[in-house]
Amino acid sequence: MLRTHTCGELRPDHIGQTVTLTGWVQRTRDKGGILWIDLRDRYGLTQLALEEGVETEEVRAQARELGREFVLSVTGRVAERHSKNDKMPTGAIEIRVETLTVLNPAKLPPFLIEDETDGGDDLRMKYRYLDLRRNTVRNNLMLRHRVAQATRRFLDGQQFIEVETPVLIKSTPEGARDFVVPSRMNPGEFYALPQSPQTFKQLLMVSGFDRYFQIVKCFRDEDLRADRQPEFTQIDCEMSFVEQEDILNTFEGLVQYLFKEVKGLEIGTLPRMTYADAMRYYGNDKPDTRFEMKFVELNDVVKGQGFPVFDAAGLVVGINAHNSAMYTRKQLDELTEFVKRPQVGATGLVYARVEADGNVKSSVDKFYSQDELQKWKAAFNAQPGDLLLILAGEPHKTRKALSELRLEMGQRMGLRDKDVFSPLWVVDFPLLEYIEEEGRYFAMHHPFTSPKPEDVALLDNPATIGEVRANAYDMVINGVEVGGGSIRIHDRAVQARMFSLLGFSDEEAKAQFGFLLDAFEYGAPPHGGIAFGFDRLCSLFGGADSIRDFIAFPKNNSGRDVMIDSPSPISGAQLKELSIATAVEKK
Ligand code: ASP
Repeated sequence: MLRTHTCGELRPDHIGQTVTLTGWVQRTRDKGGILWIDLRDRYGLTQLALEEGVETEEVRAQARELGREFVLSVTGRVAERHSKNDKMPTGAIEIRVETLTVLNPAKLPPFLIEDETDGGDDLRMKYRYLDLRRNTVRNNLMLRHRVAQATRRFLDGQQFIEVETPVLIKSTPEGARDFVVPSRMNPGEFYALPQSPQTFKQLLMVSGFDRYFQIVKCFRDEDLRADRQPEFTQIDCEMSFVEQEDILNTFEGLVQYLFKEVKGLEIGTLPRMTYADAMRYYGNDKPDTRFEMKFVELNDVVKGQGFPVFDAAGLVVGINAHNSAMYTRKQLDELTEFVKRPQVGATGLVYARVEADGNVKSSVDKFYSQDELQKWKAAFNAQPGDLLLILAGEPHKTRKALSELRLEMGQRMGLRDKDVFSPLWVVDFPLLEYIEEEGRYFAMHHPFTSPKPEDVALLDNPATIGEVRANAYDMVINGVEVGGGSIRIHDRAVQARMFSLLGFSDEEAKAQFGFLLDAFEYGAPPHGGIAFGFDRLCSLFGGADSIRDFIAFPKNNSGRDVMIDSPSPISGAQLKELSIATAVEKK
């Protein structure tokens, strides 16, 4: 090694030793008589000192020439610092420099390499290798490393085998849009990048691997949001000879272990909530259960009093924001504007305050007597000081809008603390979901998910197909879906039936998934599994909203890597070789 110690290592015990350190110049301070340099590497910062009359004029002259981010090697003696800095692990010592070698000079970096940087997002992404020098970003990646290692330790201890599955696979119509890769050797044909290793992990169960996992890149060509990247990482798992209960227990164990190892937290047993209850009480299949504020349905309480909006609504439903009756007219107008935003989609907001004397004052007092309003209060179990917020309309849309309002109120009321973790399982998802625009059913999880045996008969009747529940489950933490999976179909006939329900002809099913249907004829064990969004899990542990901060080289919101400038055009010769006739001219 070109060094004897790292920049995070030296303590008073080392005083008197001669050491060699290497690293980057964080900053220099020249006070005339004495000159300091902070030298940085991955492990920390160490102060170098060069004093007039103590260190040589030659080395002091060299030090004056240094710029930010120069790469240095310095040799010197460890000395006690006069003014100690107890915020720095190396703050009790400094190095009295004897020799200083510039291993490489550096151009002035385009932004400050400090915890608080002046670099905007685009600039930091273009120079991501400099951004990665910053503590905050590096710490995120170190956290990611720890989560990955802990995951491997836990699963290895439970007899899971890590197996790599291919990245060049086959495009399928179900699920999200595929990224495709042209095949030079097979003109006109394409591979697809996996959206997940789903079918491969099931085949590994047919092969008798019994317990599989992989920390694996997945690719989905979807529109991007803060918590999405076109390529992302899953902790992908599958087990044989299991029921839903076994999977929930095993992976509850994994998440408990990760919280303990990474955060030092005991999260205890995960509560379970059915999908039906999640929708009913939170309007959301990934409820943020850090706070209550459950939905209260009001159809029976508010209808028939002559208020046309409520009378015409399929559903009148509200939440009780405790101790928020002091909300001003302006704040309530803001909330009304919030629910009317197209993304939220409500037409208006009705509110009611419970006053100190117990009387209720609402925004629709003209239609409701105090006696009637007292019934509202009872339905919400409201106390003086509470604010009731009520939406009305088509049931599905109204629940969705109230879910947004609930989250907004949770935020405003400080109930969504990043250091509080509220994990749970959401279970009993519907097997199928009807997509109006497509005029057909789609698999809610994926086409390999098995219906609950007790619901299978409902598949025979078109009127009840939508009610069939699946052995499918999600793990939700703080309103984020961190993982999801299901017990799979392992019977060829059931799988073929599922494909037909999803609108595949026999030929299409065979063409797309013939390999899986065939495999099911060679002794497929009952099996099931789950996949966790690894990036999301890391961002949750790190207390951040965006997964980008936990990915070394992420893409921006247009799916571009601005550092390597990709995607990019390829040459005509390459296109020709790939048998791709024309590429769209770039605008
Ligand atoms: N492959 C599924 C997914 O990516 C997870 C699973 O069912 O195991 O969501």
